[in-house]
Amino acid sequence: MAGLSLRCGDCGVQLRSVEEAQAHAEATSHTNFAESTEAVLNLVCADCGKPCRSQTEVDLHKKRTGHAEFTDKTMEAAKPIDLEAPPKPASEAMDVDASGSAEPQELVSPEVNKEMLGELESMGFSTARATRALHFSGNSTIEGAINWLSEHQEDPDIDEMPMVPANTVANKPSLTEEEKKIKAQELRCFYKPFMNHGLVVK
Ligand SMILES: [Zn+2]
Ligand SMILES: [Zn+2]
Repeated sequence: MAGLSLRCGDCGVQLRSVEEAQAHAEATSHTNFAESTEAVLNLVCADCGKPCRSQTEVDLHKKRTGHAEFTDKTMEAAKPIDLEAPPKPASEAMDVDASGSAEPQELVSPEVNKEMLGELESMGFSTARATRALHFSGNSTIEGAINWLSEHQEDPDIDEMPMVPANTVANKPSLTEEEKKIKAQELRCFYKPFMNHGLVVK
């Protein structure tokens, strides 16, 4: 049968659920938990309703308060330990999130078309300005970049190098027809040796 409690092998305390065991492990660094078929005691004081989990706790409570009547509700509170799907403590999940987003991201200047950048620079635009214009206009044409510049020349950060996260995929122009042909040619050359050996079945 399923265990009714988890017993800490380090200090012997009984825990009612995986959550309690996790809390105990966090508080004490104890890690040796074993399933136990003994339910955790749940002796409820008839006078004040205080639940006690052990005979020691009952004795202490009796001494401290003079209360004497206890009701054994052990079996009412006992639930089988579910080791199959221990729920993730919310605090832990949040920690992971926080550390993930707090990680400083490396920023780099965006990849732009070098030829167009050179052309813009030769027209008298600063490198930062030209890079910014190419990046934000989609990195496609000189005209697009100049149009972007004419609309944004009043921007306060126009002469600052734009920065993008290092892992951002570079904004590359799509392949021209000529480039596509070359790529296809390369692929054919790559597959040819395999074809000759009959390894590629078409
Ligand atoms: Zn312990
Ligand atoms: Zn009491």
